[in-house]
Amino acid sequence: MLIYDKVRKNYGNFTALDGVSMHVNSGEVVCLIGPSGSGKSTLLRCTNALETIDGGEIRFEGKPLPKSDTETRKVRQRMGMVFQNFELFPHKTALENVAIGLTTVRKMDADEAHKRAMALLAKVGLADKTANYPANLSGGQQQRVAIARALAMEPHVMLFDEPTSALDPETVGEVLSVMRNLANEGMTMIVVTHEMSFARRVANWVVVFERGQLLEQGPPQQIFEAPTIERTREFLSHLG
Ligand code: ATP
Ligand code: MG
Repeated sequence: MLIYDKVRKNYGNFTALDGVSMHVNSGEVVCLIGPSGSGKSTLLRCTNALETIDGGEIRFEGKPLPKSDTETRKVRQRMGMVFQNFELFPHKTALENVAIGLTTVRKMDADEAHKRAMALLAKVGLADKTANYPANLSGGQQQRVAIARALAMEPHVMLFDEPTSALDPETVGEVLSVMRNLANEGMTMIVVTHEMSFARRVANWVVVFERGQLLEQGPPQQIFEAPTIERTREFLSHLG
């Protein structure tokens, strides 16, 4: 579904991605781990064309990412993105936050969009919070609204950038559990995370980044139990 072939990204003289090659197959959950500044967010941002790449190629569903804005918008609609800081519209209710893309981008009528948004909020366990504004939701609830909002567009792949890093410890679990359910339903997911227990249990494939390069990749058992690269071992040992 996604093929990265020697992807390179520079910021001025600085190389943020230095020849990254990897595959994400349909239905797979791939967890990206690695130290701060290693290029994990950059890879996600290049994937949904928030950034353009300077070398190599990213292919999505058989085609290289397009260059034109119109085509890029279409591709982006097939990718759901969830950020660390939710980025909900503060003056819209949970329901409106989920429905907005359906009415504006999809031109769905308001009734139908609201029905769909209701169903999605129920799916993430928020059937009783549809009328709340973001300020009146916990971090974990806001993040679940953000997930429902991304799902509303029926993405073919979901990109998560540290979705639980900004949350109180009590609410991390509810977000991870929504993500686990999505994975079980067969959603293709790329997840940047520091939650090693999630990576262990849910990922099909774990990719370790360092300094813009792919240090090591493999199934979770291999990466966590028997990393072949000393640096992977060292990185994991610092996580405790
Ligand atoms: P973290 O775990 O801290 O989120 P990361 O692995 O997601 O780190 P990136 O955000 O991808 O790291 O950043 C990779 C490198 O690229 C960092 O050294 C960062 O400073 C640099 N970088 C990212 N965005 C820009 C930018 N817009 N301009 C210049 N440098 C940037
Ligand atoms: Mg990051």
